[in-house]
Amino acid sequence: MLPVRRSELATFFSPTPNTTLFMPRATEVIISLPALRHNLRFAAGLAPNSKIWAVVKADAYGHGIEAVLPSLAQADGFALVEFERAAQLRALGVTAPILMLEGAFTPEDLAQAARDGLSLVVHEAGQIDWFERFESGPRVSVYLKLNSGMNRLGLPVEQFRQAWSRLRNTPSVGSITLMTHFANADLPQGTDAAMALFENATRGLEGDRSLANSAAILSLPHLHADWIRPGIMLYGSTPFADRSAMSLGLEPVMTLRSRLIACQTLSPGEAVGYGSTFVADRPMRIGVVACGYADGYPRHAPTGTPVAVAGVRTRTVGRVSMDMLTVDLEPVPRARVGDPVELWGRSIPVDEVAAAAGTIGYELTCAIAQRVRRSVVDDGDPA
Ligand SMILES: *Cc1c(COP(=O)(O)O)cnc(C)c1O
Repeated sequence: MLPVRRSELATFFSPTPNTTLFMPRATEVIISLPALRHNLRFAAGLAPNSKIWAVVKADAYGHGIEAVLPSLAQADGFALVEFERAAQLRALGVTAPILMLEGAFTPEDLAQAARDGLSLVVHEAGQIDWFERFESGPRVSVYLKLNSGMNRLGLPVEQFRQAWSRLRNTPSVGSITLMTHFANADLPQGTDAAMALFENATRGLEGDRSLANSAAILSLPHLHADWIRPGIMLYGSTPFADRSAMSLGLEPVMTLRSRLIACQTLSPGEAVGYGSTFVADRPMRIGVVACGYADGYPRHAPTGTPVAVAGVRTRTVGRVSMDMLTVDLEPVPRARVGDPVELWGRSIPVDEVAAAAGTIGYELTCAIAQRVRRSVVDDGDPA
């Protein structure tokens, strides 16, 4: 038994330590609410005749659902996958519609849906059985999902109309919206085959339609339908491999920043970091940044990944370690300990860091670690 009382342990493990006792580590995430509001308005402007599900799964793509919620108030509803989060939104007083994108995981989830007024995706025949056996409570709105080629969630075309009829004849089911999710909305003609399937499966069925994720919202206006489902674009990152968020008119919501905590001078032939993967070929100044993979910075980011030191764009060098990474100070000769470093944000799009690390912006914002301090700005520039 540790000689520590439970209450002390709770304090010790608290993700937000008492910052009056010491200077916290400089690694921090800043969330720009004006940028978020801009991106939501932008989505609304692209699809003026559609209603908007603001997608806030995975803690609003890592941005912090409670922090972003008030700035998404102009959305018509919130879409997510975690039932405990949906309950939390209701407890916070959110009265807007909430859509559960993976639907019920167990029959008991239907009771929560009825009680909390949650709309449920139905993507699998077993979920229809649950509705047929569920009697009590107010009717639950359903989003009946077609598998249009992603082969992840959704009923096959052959079963779709029968599923619709079964649901229509089930007393616990309210309105039925017809939906699908595209595997390739980011590619030219990427939705053609999926839309042929969808139109075939849904012809003549009554109900609203919901099709478009960010990629489709941004590039396929004829597919906006009744309800759009923007996710990544709200957070100011691009769903396309070849079009930057800025070129699309989006503003970055998350900034990850830190500071230099050391500077080193390398002689030609000297290396930096684990594995000595980067070797200086000339005298070089190197900055050590208090941010590593335990903060959510991708360890796979290779030498050359963009980073900004004191506002000047430069590159990472060597391997990313748990709590630190190292940067080339050649373009910033005056750089010194304490200087601010932007890992991603307005100067360095998260999508560029993601591309360098072989992933997408979605994964990076979702991966910000617990220990990283978070704050919110509501006056424009996070700097
Ligand atoms: C996550 C999700 C979205 C949002 O996708 P983005 O590419 O982030 O816009 C839309 N629809 C469904 C069903 C989703 O799961």
